[in-house]
Formats: sequence, structure tokens, C-alpha cells
Amino acid sequence: MDNKYNHVDPKTIEKLFKICGKGNVIYEKELLENYACDESNKLLCHAPEIVVKPKNAEQVSKIMELANESLIPVTPRGAGSGIAGAAIPIFGGILLSLERMNKIIEIDRVNRVAIVEPGVITNDLCKKVSEEGLFYAGYPMSVGASSIGGNVATNAGGGKVIKYGNTRKHILGLEVVLPTGEILEIGGKFRKSTWGYDLLNLLIGSEGTLGIFTKIVVNLIPLPGMTVDLLAPFRNIEEAVSAFTNSIISSKSVPVSVEFMDKVSVDATTSYLNTNLPLQNEAEAYLLITVEGDTKEKLEDLYEKVGTTLLQMGALDVFIADNKTNSEKIWLVRREILEGLKFKDPNVCAGGDVVVPVSEIPVIVDAIRRISRSCNVTPAIVGHIGDGNLHPALFKPDGITVEEWLRLSEEILSKIVDVAVKLGGVGSGEHGVGIEKRSLFLRSKSQVEIKLMRGIKQLFDPNWILNPGKVL
Ligand SMILES: Cc1cc2nc3c(=O)[nH]c(=O)nc-3n(C[C@H](O)[C@H](O)[C@H](O)COP(=O)(O)OP(=O)(O)OC[C@H]3O[C@@H](n4cnc5c(N)ncnc54)[C@H](O)[C@@H]3O)c2cc1C
Repeated sequence: MDNKYNHVDPKTIEKLFKICGKGNVIYEKELLENYACDESNKLLCHAPEIVVKPKNAEQVSKIMELANESLIPVTPRGAGSGIAGAAIPIFGGILLSLERMNKIIEIDRVNRVAIVEPGVITNDLCKKVSEEGLFYAGYPMSVGASSIGGNVATNAGGGKVIKYGNTRKHILGLEVVLPTGEILEIGGKFRKSTWGYDLLNLLIGSEGTLGIFTKIVVNLIPLPGMTVDLLAPFRNIEEAVSAFTNSIISSKSVPVSVEFMDKVSVDATTSYLNTNLPLQNEAEAYLLITVEGDTKEKLEDLYEKVGTTLLQMGALDVFIADNKTNSEKIWLVRREILEGLKFKDPNVCAGGDVVVPVSEIPVIVDAIRRISRSCNVTPAIVGHIGDGNLHPALFKPDGITVEEWLRLSEEILSKIVDVAVKLGGVGSGEHGVGIEKRSLFLRSKSQVEIKLMRGIKQLFDPNWILNPGKVL
């Protein structure tokens, strides 16, 4: 990738001080390192030349005008929890952190929407709206760390997509600053529109390459009923898949979550957390299923039906977590898997995230294991199995350097993505393309599609200054 961009010079620094206030600009080398990485592979880290922390859309707009005139790259950053390297400023330049834009501006009960700034932490929004009897259904596993702006930019998925859909389903409107500095309002407090091209959905999932979100209108629903979690260990993945697909039909209900953890990831995470899950010695695969019901009776009826089907289809047992403590113990293992894998191997490559039709899950799992083992690499597999979305993680074998490992893990992931595409899926369901999967992405799309996408990018960002080197 060519670096055609200019550096941040002293004059630009002075102008940025004027726009944001000197206290909201970071240019000290040692502090810039704090913005060099996200949660992707540490070998990809690259520090920006300067960090700016604007407080409102007007400041963001002035920064973009300045960067556009001066041909300086700008990388937007939410909470930096991304796993695809999309918030890493690979060309240096300006890192635009949305961390100070973190207000919940309004919770509107009549229209069932909230208007928030992008830097609000997802879980803070969930908690705040629940005090009003309302529910924001976005739930990435990073819910306590990620920002809502980052969720919109990556079209984040997570643990409730099977029932409630991914972030795209929960966004009604955006205020966006374009790379040229223009401020655009799209959508609003309404739920339908046949009023021209759908720019809202184009911007959602654009990984900070088309515009910077400065205000977000999110859809809220009434707080749903009670939930119960079922933990079901299985001898193999095939039984687990046919058990949960059958349980959906037999119980006539789509669960809130169907999560999958294999033995390798459970063993790594329970030893990291110093805990255990039932039947850990026998189980090769665990399903974590959350069901929801309006009343206690309906909920009991539902989890009994689901549990019975799971047992009939081969579950070694079904453990019911019907109180907060038990539930949290299981969900903690699921949420902390990334940390557990890093605990086992700090060089673990955990950015993979493929989607296939649910019926093809056993095939892709088999392919992940076969491809990895043929390179002497042990894989761990977890994921939102209800959506056909799996996260393969790869442990670095002994005897190779980290640079060699970067190349080898990319080669393995590339083969896995090829299989996923052949099975009718795609190379990422939620983590995005970023820099990690850019070459895989470009290879997996037709020339016509890439031409259209480049044309769109050119229109939004004539100088390609916004988050360059990502996606396209
Ligand atoms: C332990 C763990 C679990 C995770 N689980 C999930 C999961 O279940 N589902 C899932 O989808 N992801 C998951 N992730 C990945 C990550 O949390 C999501 O991608 C999240 O949406 C990123 O949000 P962020 O605020 O950290 O964004 P960042 O990492 O800061 O940025 C991500 C992208 O968004 C862009 N961006 C950020 N803010 C804005 C803005 N205001 N305007 C325009 N562009 C912006 C950035 O430029 C970048 O391209 C997980 C990560 C971790 C570490």
C-alpha cells in the first residue's frame, strides 16, 4: 500500500490545538503508543502522529476539513476493542478518538428511541435504558468495553443476534461528518423509509472509512421477560448442531442466544478464571442457550421443551441456570474466552470470524481443524453458533518466530475463509475486514463489486484520507 500522505507538521498541530483545546490533543511520543493497537494481532500496531479528542460534531468537522486540505490521514477510534485492526492508524497521521463524546443525550419513551453520542460504552446504554423499562438489544461479548459508535461502524453482532438481529437492526438514524467536513443527518426517530437510496445502511458497517458518526439514534424495545440459561455439554459438534436446530422447531421459539464453545477454549478459559464447567472431562462441545418468556410458567414450559430435545439429541446432560449467580458463572466463561486463549498463548491469533449456513457448521469445523493441524497448529473454536458464526483461534506452534507466525496464521485463516465462501458463507460476520482481512476480502469479491465499492469510497472521500488501508 502506497503512503501518499503528508505528515502532521507544527502548523497543523497549532490548528488542532485551536479546534479541540490543547488539553485534548496528545502529541507526546510515549502517550501516542496508547493508541497504536486495538485487540487485534499486536504485530499490526502502529502509533499515530497525533491524537485529537473532539467534543462535538463541529470540532470533528473542522478536523476533517483541515486533514482533507492537508492530505493527512485520519483514523476514527471508539474504545479500541476491535479485532480486525480497523482502528489502527497504519499510515500515522491523526487519530480521532471519540472517547469524550460519551453522552446519552435523550431517552424518548414515546418513540422508543435513544439518541446517544458515539463514545457511550454499550453496556452503559443497556443499563440506562433498562431503568426506563426499555431494552437495547445489541450485545457484543465486549459489551462492557466497546463503544456504540464502534458497534455501528463494525455492524457488531454478538450473543443475541439469533433473536434480535445485529447492530444494523437497532439503528434508526445517524449524524455523520464526512471526510470533507460536511455534516449529514440520515434517518431519525422513525422506523420506515422508502425515500431514496439507503445511505444509513451503507454507513453502518463501513468501518470508519466513509464518515464519522457523531450522533446515533438507536431503536429500543420494551424490556423483555425473564430469561433462563441452559448449558448442554455434547460429545461432538454434529450432535450439538442438530440438537439446537431441532429444539427451535420443537419449542416453537427462537432463543435469545445459542453460543458454542469447544473443549480447547473451555479448558483455557476455566483455567484462566480458576473455575470449571460441568462434565469438562467428557464434553468436546458446549452449547449455551438462553430462552426468554413473559411469565414464569411460560418460561418453565419453554426450557423444559428445549432441555428435553437437547437430551434426546445427544446432550450428555442439561444444566439449568435460573438465577443470576449461576447464569453469570457460565456467561463469564463465554465472555472471557479471548482472555483465556491469550492466557494460554499470548501469540494466539484470534481475529478469525467466519459465517456459514447453520447446516454447514460441522463441515467448517472439520475444515478448521484439518487445515490448522496440517500446519502443526492447534485451533480453538467458539462462536455464535445460532447465527452460523464461528471464531476460530489459532495457537502459535513452537519453533517459529512471531513474524513467521503472522504469515502462517494468515495463510491458515485465508484457507478457512475460502472454505466458508465455498460453503455459501462470508469471511466475517461481525469483526469486519479492517487490515487483518483486507487481502482476503479483496480476493473473495468480484471485480464488479470492488469497482462499485471503490466508486462509493471515492464519492464520500475524494482524497482517501479517512481510515485508509482498511477494507479496500
Ligand atoms: C473480548 C472481546 C469480545 C468481543 N466480542 C464481540 C462480539 O461478540 N461481537 C462483535 O461484533 N464484536 C466483538 N468484539 C469486537 C469489538 O468489540 C467490536 O468490533 C466493537 O464493535 C468495536 O467497538 P469499539 O468502540 O471498540 O471500536 P474500535 O475498535 O475503536 O473501532 C472499530 C472500527 O470502528 C470505527 N469507528 C469507531 N468509532 C467510530 C465512529 N464514531 N464513527 C465512525 N467509525 C468509528 C473505527 O475506525 C474502526 O474502523 C469483541 C472484542 C473483544 C476484545
